[in-house]
Amino acid sequence: QEKNGCARRLYVRQNRGNYFGMKDAFSRTIDYMRVSLTDRCNYRCVYCMDECGVEKKSHDDILSFEDVMTIIRAFHNLGGKKVRFTGGEPLLRKNAADLICSVKKELPDLCIGLTTNGVYLPKYIDKLSDCIDGLNVSIDSLSDEIYNKITRGGNLECAIQGISAAKNSGIKNIKVNAVLMKGVNDDVSAFSEFAKKHDVKVRFIEMMPIMNEHAFHKYFLPADIFVKENDMKFLRRENKVDVYMTKDGVEIGVIAALQSKFCSSCNRIRLTADGKILPCLHHDVFVDVKPYLADGNVEDAILKAVEIKPREHLIEKGVLQKINMYGIGG
Ligand code: SAM
Ligand code: SF4
Repeated sequence: QEKNGCARRLYVRQNRGNYFGMKDAFSRTIDYMRVSLTDRCNYRCVYCMDECGVEKKSHDDILSFEDVMTIIRAFHNLGGKKVRFTGGEPLLRKNAADLICSVKKELPDLCIGLTTNGVYLPKYIDKLSDCIDGLNVSIDSLSDEIYNKITRGGNLECAIQGISAAKNSGIKNIKVNAVLMKGVNDDVSAFSEFAKKHDVKVRFIEMMPIMNEHAFHKYFLPADIFVKENDMKFLRRENKVDVYMTKDGVEIGVIAALQSKFCSSCNRIRLTADGKILPCLHHDVFVDVKPYLADGNVEDAILKAVEIKPREHLIEKGVLQKINMYGIGG
């Protein structure tokens, strides 16, 4: 096994100059890692988390920031180009902004993204503005009341203040993500007005069935029905995002996470806060990085995860993820 690990490392090193990245068994280049810093959250969104929240993990179960840094360093060494910090709510973890800045300082060529519900942005944006290349803020409704209901207690104004703080700090690439919910946020007009007013890109994401059976059955709305009901005109595809023009003349993105199968172009792996490297969002397979950290060969853990990356998700055949979305990070 160790021999194989060495061979894999050698292979990657020898080929770095040629293709700069890891290839999986289906010739996909894997150069993007989503890193969850915590599974805890200040919200309890109905499609993501139970009302009672998350069972608190012991300190020993969670990767230290040194461990996270070691894993990101190894990923970069193997040709990783992009890391996105997520959670739970990533900014809820103490010193998260410092970690993000340390990563940027040490690995300036790594593209760094952050996905957040926005609430803590005003507090940390001064630190973050020079360290992140892109920011995604999740806002599922532009009605105070509905936003409060979806998040189970959240305050829409706080999220909007987070976006304003990010804009004022000079961050350019700000996207607002909304999980599409039948009968809840499926009228695009408020979002297209918001996109225009705040000069941000809005994207609707099809809800995924990840440990949320009740909410999924109640709220799932296929992207094509949303597009048709809002009379949106298809413009172009940008990676996984279908860009449409609304009746108000605003571009809105739609990510048909279920209807379109993006697996053939998937370039990601995911790291959970408790040290699992997941090669697929929808398969319950992972590599526990902790023993590799202890042995000092984290690159092997990453390569193993890439090696076992499934060809495609099999949601339609009932193969579902068994880790909650707040534990994975989207
Ligand atoms: N707390 C942060 C936030 O809400 O942006 C980061 C973590 S959250 C798990 C990451 C993204 O996953 C958010 O945009 C959230 O809306 C989305 N998400 C959560 N559960 C989902 C589901 N079942 N289907 C689709 N997107 C989901
Ligand atoms: Fe928290 Fe984000 Fe999940 Fe909402 S979607 S409960 S904000 S982790």
